[in-house]
Amino acid sequence: MSDCLFCKIIGGEIPSTKVFENDYVYAFKDISPVAPVHVLFVPKEHISGVSGITPENSAVVSKIFEAIAEYAHSIGLDESGYRVVSNCGESAGQTVMHLHFHLLGGAMLGKMVSDCERSHE
Ligand code: AMP
Ligand code: ZN
Repeated sequence: MSDCLFCKIIGGEIPSTKVFENDYVYAFKDISPVAPVHVLFVPKEHISGVSGITPENSAVVSKIFEAIAEYAHSIGLDESGYRVVSNCGESAGQTVMHLHFHLLGGAMLGKMVSDCERSHE
C-alpha cells in the first residue's frame, strides 16, 4: 500500500533497524522503545490490523508468531519472558494501520489491566 509507513519500511523506502526477515515477515526495532527489547513484527502483505485478518490472509499470523518465537529464542528472551501486544483501533491506541505485533521484554513488565479505564462496564 503506497501510503503506509510500514509498507515503506518493508520496501526499504524508509530506514529501519531490521532484526528478522523471511518471505512473509519483517521485524524491526521500535523507534520509541518502551522496554529494553521492543521489536515490531509485521506481515510483508498489507493488512490494516487485527480487524483486517480474514480466512484468506490469516496464515501469515502463524508465520509472525513462529518468527517471534524464533527471534526471542535467538536472543535468549524466552528464558526471562516477554509480552506480545497488538493494538487494534482507536481505543487501543493503534497509530499505524498495518498489522503489527509489539515484542516487549528485557525488564519486568507491569500488569496491563492496571492501566485500563473501565469505559465498557
Ligand atoms: P501502535 O501505536 O500500536 O500502532 O504502534 C506503532 C508503533 O510504531 C509505535 O510504537 C511507534 O513508536 C512505532 N513507529 C512509528 N514510526 C516508526 C518508525 N519509522 N520506525 C520504527 N518504529 C516506528
Ligand atoms: Zn502497509
